[in-house]
Amino acid sequence: MRVVTRGNKSPKGQRIMATKIEAAPKIGMVSLGCPKALVDSERILTKLRSDGYAMSPDYAGADVVLVNTCGFLDSAKEESLEAIGEALAENGRVIVTGCLGKEAEMIRARYPKVLAISGAAQYEEVVGAVHEAAPMPVNAFINLVPEGALKLTPRHYSYLKISEGCNHRCAFCIIPSIRGDLVSRRIDAVLREAEKLVAAGTKELLVISQDTSAYGVDTRHEPREWKGREVRAHMTDLARELGGLRTADGISPWVRLHYVYPYPHVDQVIPLMAEGLITPYLDIPFQHAAPNVLKAMKRPANEAKVLERVHKWRDICPDITIRSTFVVGFPGETEADFEYLLDWLDEAQLDRVGAFRFEPVEGAAANALPNPVPEEVKEERYQRIMEKTAAISAAKLVAKVGRILPVIIDDVGEADEDGSIGATGRSQADAPEIDGNVFLRDVAATVKSGDIVEVQIEDADEHDLFGVIQ
Ligand code: SF4
Repeated sequence: MRVVTRGNKSPKGQRIMATKIEAAPKIGMVSLGCPKALVDSERILTKLRSDGYAMSPDYAGADVVLVNTCGFLDSAKEESLEAIGEALAENGRVIVTGCLGKEAEMIRARYPKVLAISGAAQYEEVVGAVHEAAPMPVNAFINLVPEGALKLTPRHYSYLKISEGCNHRCAFCIIPSIRGDLVSRRIDAVLREAEKLVAAGTKELLVISQDTSAYGVDTRHEPREWKGREVRAHMTDLARELGGLRTADGISPWVRLHYVYPYPHVDQVIPLMAEGLITPYLDIPFQHAAPNVLKAMKRPANEAKVLERVHKWRDICPDITIRSTFVVGFPGETEADFEYLLDWLDEAQLDRVGAFRFEPVEGAAANALPNPVPEEVKEERYQRIMEKTAAISAAKLVAKVGRILPVIIDDVGEADEDGSIGATGRSQADAPEIDGNVFLRDVAATVKSGDIVEVQIEDADEHDLFGVIQ
């Protein structure tokens, strides 16, 4: 059995009393796709555990296998279909859920033996299908869910999902048709979950949604009582409250904001970063810079003054890391538009950049746009943007050599023949799975994953740093 989560590891250190549940049906899980899908997998497994089910670490031991699919790009769809095929071949009793569930007919045509199919975040449907396929034990053990619920990420970091769906209609994206319009969670429920995660050992909270800046728009930022005061369902209140959490050892967890669109109120969270209340890191998927491409993409918060604001953010919080993603070769993108983007990147000096070649996704409005960019032009532009952003990243990282930075440890290696131990961690500029690493030499045997240590940076390359604990 595999839990496929773009490199995430299976849960460790959970207080699960396996002896009590020998007779419970066992569930296997294959989780594909983005952090939002990972959170869905965690929720489904948490519910199933509280219903008395056990987890199986392999296909052979599972009474039923859940495959949580990704349907965003054609390549992701194919990977999901292959995972369904593998689970059927290895186990035979398979329930499919997640984004690709929207294409139930296509899945059934290829795999008629699949037991049930549901879409993204359809928790009740998928749990109901498991109840049917492997009936719940008569004496369900309701206390089997560990503090902080079941996690598919390592114990020291957790994704915190604050809403589902999206009110925008970007031309290249089918997420609103898969996940629907924005539905925000109650702020008190989000904070309670965060508090539990931190109490259970989480040192880094990664706030995720489709559009974090829009949190609470659908509920008119409905306030709720939390610890004797009113807090609004709003990104700024959320950031401030998360920044006030403390672990059992009195450590402030890192709080990282993902999928933030540059609405005006984003300016309010920058001082919180400067104060050290939340991690100075903003993940803003700009996708492009040229005005006519952004217009054709129908991107939210697309306004001309973004560059000015990026400069202001850096004035307020010089250590801020800005990460973004860009699409090259969108229909109608001219050479001039692409050069505009490269110049914009020169000016913006973003710290971390991911680039994608435009890929038509079935059902996306962009597919009908005129002037598609030929594949070889897309490829050439992709290489040019990667070269540009790698050079910016290398210069930014080399400027960190000589500094002492806090680093969270993800993995500690085995001692080599000389007895020296290496470890892999991340600075505040690095989100797990998507950014770089800090590679540490000669760490003490007492250092363990989840520790936050001070590191003297000794070297850098295009994406990673190298150093030694102080
Ligand atoms: S903001 Fe745009 S890209 Fe992001 S989920 Fe909404 S529609 Fe898709």
